[in-house]
Amino acid sequence: MKITGAAKLAGVVGWPVAHSRSPVLHGYWLEQYGIDGAYVPLAIDPINLRRALQTMPMLGFAGCNLTIPHKEEGLRAVDDYDASAKRAGGVNTVVVLPNGHLMGSSTDGFGFLAALRAQLTGFNAANGPAVVLGAGGAARAIVAALLDEGATEVRLVNRTPERASKLAKELGGEVRGIKWEDRNQALTGAALLVNATSLGMEGQPALELSLEALPTDAIVNDIVYVPLETNLLAAARARGNPCVDGLGMLLHQARPGFEAWFGVKPEVTQGLRDAVLGTLTKP
Ligand code: NAP
Repeated sequence: MKITGAAKLAGVVGWPVAHSRSPVLHGYWLEQYGIDGAYVPLAIDPINLRRALQTMPMLGFAGCNLTIPHKEEGLRAVDDYDASAKRAGGVNTVVVLPNGHLMGSSTDGFGFLAALRAQLTGFNAANGPAVVLGAGGAARAIVAALLDEGATEVRLVNRTPERASKLAKELGGEVRGIKWEDRNQALTGAALLVNATSLGMEGQPALELSLEALPTDAIVNDIVYVPLETNLLAAARARGNPCVDGLGMLLHQARPGFEAWFGVKPEVTQGLRDAVLGTLTKP
């Protein structure tokens, strides 16, 4: 679709940014909904993050996404942020308010829950213990979302135990840090298993995990999406566990930003999945 001089503008700020799938994702929606708008990649060096964001209102941008490595610093670079950003410890969505102020939020937890709900009927965070592998930025947003949805027990397994205990302390609630060596036993009686480490991702070491103790009705979600079918998902699927891949979270987390910038509530469809999947399989 051609844009006019009145086009609404948004983009993704990263360093580097060329790997980001967000321009394809938002570009698909702009086309689908016939919106006069553009969503562009913005390569911004971390030392310039605050300055670059503060120029957005002057340049007429409606807002932007922040990706690696800017999410945490985003908390200091915006004028204000909401409870989701505070809970997640970072900002991934910035909206320019009518008064020109920059409002930050985190939609990763929203995306995680929406993906589970879209692929599984009746997902309920309070159904039983959740095991989350990892204590990085993504894990934090996921644990916060689970607690906010009424999870009664989160077993947080991380290679660096101090990182898990720090996160547990900051988020409060029923979060228990578990040693990486004890990850197989931690699956006993779990209702949900989430891999939020980078293990199993293309170019990263494999995730070594025995699913023996995991109940076969437990949901297994790998948020790694390259490859889409990770070894964890393949092993879980083979024993009958309901599985959710990482692409859903990536697509659903984009919805609130698109709606705020372009004024349309976008849907995650098979067409969108295919369009973004096409970019994942290309080198
Ligand atoms: P991060 O902040 O760098 O955290 C990485 C996590 O992986 C940490 O918990 C780290 O443990 C663990 N880890 C790394 N190498 C390990 C190893 N060899 N053994 C054991 N644990 C290891 O990264 P992030 O932003 O949270 O992202 C994590 C993964 O999620 C990435 O693959 C990313 O692509 C994916 N992700 C997907 C979505 C989505 O929408 N689907 C969104 C965000 C992220 P330590 O604390 O011990 O270092």
